[in-house]
Amino acid sequence: VPSFNPPSDATLRRLADIVGEQNALCDPARQAPYLTEWRDLYHGSTPIVLRPGSTEEVSRIMAIAHAERIGVVPQAGNTGLVGGQIPTGPEIVLSVDRMTRIREVDRQRTSMTVEAGVILADAHAEAEKHDRIFPLSMASQGSCRIGGNLATNAGGVQVLAYGNARALTLGLEAVLPDGRIWNGLTNLKKDNTGYDLRDLMIGSEGTLGIITAAVLKLFPRPHEQVTAFAGLPDLDAALVFLRLAQEHAGPALTAFEFMPAIAIDMVVMHIPGMQNPLAGRSPWYALLELSSPRAEGGMNDALDALLASASEKNLITDATIATSLDKSRALWKLRESISEAQKREGGSIKHDVSVPITTIPEFIRRANAIVEKICPGARPVPFGHMGDGNVHYNVSQPQGMSRAAFLALWETMNVAVHDLVVSLEGSISAEHGIGRLKRAELARLKPALELELMRRIKAVIDPLGIMNPGKVL
Ligand code: FAD
Ligand code: ZN
Repeated sequence: VPSFNPPSDATLRRLADIVGEQNALCDPARQAPYLTEWRDLYHGSTPIVLRPGSTEEVSRIMAIAHAERIGVVPQAGNTGLVGGQIPTGPEIVLSVDRMTRIREVDRQRTSMTVEAGVILADAHAEAEKHDRIFPLSMASQGSCRIGGNLATNAGGVQVLAYGNARALTLGLEAVLPDGRIWNGLTNLKKDNTGYDLRDLMIGSEGTLGIITAAVLKLFPRPHEQVTAFAGLPDLDAALVFLRLAQEHAGPALTAFEFMPAIAIDMVVMHIPGMQNPLAGRSPWYALLELSSPRAEGGMNDALDALLASASEKNLITDATIATSLDKSRALWKLRESISEAQKREGGSIKHDVSVPITTIPEFIRRANAIVEKICPGARPVPFGHMGDGNVHYNVSQPQGMSRAAFLALWETMNVAVHDLVVSLEGSISAEHGIGRLKRAELARLKPALELELMRRIKAVIDPLGIMNPGKVL
């Protein structure tokens, strides 16, 4: 049974020496930003937060942690939504937030090598300097960092066209739990030389090692991009509308998001300056985007034709098109503000799940019935990445109920909704990961054979169990 020790005072001093006094945080006030998280579910404590500035320093820290059996919690941007980046007590926190160098953009501009602490939005900006895009994008992109994005195999709003973080990564550099540096910084597209260590490390949520750098894929920058926001009579229509959009636009369809009326109501009520761009209120909305690498790629015409066809088939009741970047940003802001707006409505019980795309309407109908039974008056706000079958099935508390009393139902509601997800052959974590939040659910629902193999892999790479203990497994 792996066990780990709290670091002694002498060890703390040695660790601090590696990063320098100003980057070794023991003062509670300076530690605070590393110990709470966005959802306010977890409050951690730690003897020390270390902010190494290089892979070499990470390696030296891990060598000591390994020799002294000290638990280590890797952290990047601290926007994770499952508590994976928050320590439970005696572990040290290793933040990569000072490792922000762009090491290289390759000559063909098809990839760039960045350190794990680069903020996702800064990676976007760097790609744009070279007339390229790095297409991973999500509402947290101003704060989340590449190391965290890869450790969680993040998804976001462009997975439909470009794939998730795993699909966007060519190579990796990581420090193993014993301090050795694995240099897998290749930019090869093809490499079939045995087990894929890169893919194992991606999505491992800090339980196998510390990602210190990555080679990321770049894509041609779209020079024409059009966005539409459409009102829909019901969710079944959304499903047909998605298929129609795929038929019309093919790979030019770069996003297809859905959200219910209540989500837009909450955004309009709580987020300053936001309004519903459509005249009437529809039960459901879709936000879709078409992109072309050519300036005159015909995206406007394609979108017009799509909307006309959808309207003829009664799939949409109303729609607005944004052709300028500003108008498009305003539409996207509606979608990106949902979580923030929901926060202002009190407690929210979350489920980040995926189901086969064609079962999304059935899943939501049945989940709503389950939730109403568990907590009459609770308000489901299901939204997400329709093209990926990914539903953020988030439930706001009933008006007037106490936040604490509602949140006490978290486990009961999760169990019931996850059982439904599994019966529909879906996944209980589509993009946020397992962390601490879903550890018990993973143990309950993951097939025994898969769990056994995961535990054995963990034991081989991290035999002492010092990497992010108590997370995932
Ligand atoms: P952190 O929170 O710091 O860490 C996350 C996990 O990765 C932890 O387990 C941590 O231990 C591990 N980790 C961090 N750095 C390293 C490293 N260098 N090496 C090894 N392990 C490491 N996620 C999506 O997938 N799609 C979305 O659309 C999306 N939208 C979001 C919107 C909002 C408003 C917020 C707050 C979050 C959203 N997220 C989304 C969740 C979150 O932003 C992502 O999971 C993101 O990838 C986490 O990156 P981070 O740098 O903040 O990681
Ligand atoms: Zn999402």
